[in-house]
Amino acid sequence: MKVLVAVKRVVDYNVKIRVKADNTGIETANVKMAMNPFDEIAVEEGLRLKEAGIADELVVVSLGVQQCQETIRTALAMGADRGILVETEDELQPMAVAKLLGEVVGREAPDLVIVGKQAIDDDSNQTGQMLAALLGWPQGTFASKITPGDGTIEVVREIDGGLETVTLKMPAVITTDLRLNVPRYASLPNIMKAKKKTIDVVTPADLGVDTASRLVTLKVEEPPRRQAGVKVADAAELVDKLRNEAKVI
Ligand code: AMP
Repeated sequence: MKVLVAVKRVVDYNVKIRVKADNTGIETANVKMAMNPFDEIAVEEGLRLKEAGIADELVVVSLGVQQCQETIRTALAMGADRGILVETEDELQPMAVAKLLGEVVGREAPDLVIVGKQAIDDDSNQTGQMLAALLGWPQGTFASKITPGDGTIEVVREIDGGLETVTLKMPAVITTDLRLNVPRYASLPNIMKAKKKTIDVVTPADLGVDTASRLVTLKVEEPPRRQAGVKVADAAELVDKLRNEAKVI
């Protein structure tokens, strides 16, 4: 079985996001970038399938600027076999990403595609679903457990009311939720080994996909600052404030 995992380069989750002075977006110059956390979980799951002898190849793909190669290298250092960079300077929205991934899937013919449930920069939560729809493949989104069977895969999904279990026919698309696994750190020997692994570079034009944006960003702004709270001495004062100042009771 062949597994394809998408890894997005995003601003590191520890970085405090700053909006650009001209309100056109967020500051990314000199900002630490990292692999989207849900994609680390996707890579880890692919590695576990390999280690269990279920998958024989794990291919990672990233779409974006040339520096996405670093994100691919991180996945290779975790243990993935090879990488594909779809290189573009254009800003990619989920529909364009899904179409490009669809073309990569067409070339690679994986049995399973694993993507994150959302990218922590745009929080779209769309790519996996759009990809499954474009391919006409079953999808198991928000996976917290996966169990491959014979030509099928059982996915336990995190849904609002609890957990839902679905069985998908492969090939299928899965999106990862936080509880699926805890991703490993790359060991030093594996970081060295990763330097020799292959990364193929293609462009959206090679894949025949028009990545033109369908959305226009009008303005990016910080959320309004929250006012400081006050401490009350006792419950009576709290009730008094709720009744007479906030007028909510
Ligand atoms: P989104 O729909 O933007 O929230 O992204 C969901 C998932 O799609 C991410 O966790 C990634 O696995 C994948 N993805 C989205 N954009 C990219 C990208 N530019 N490169 C690689 N993977 C991506």
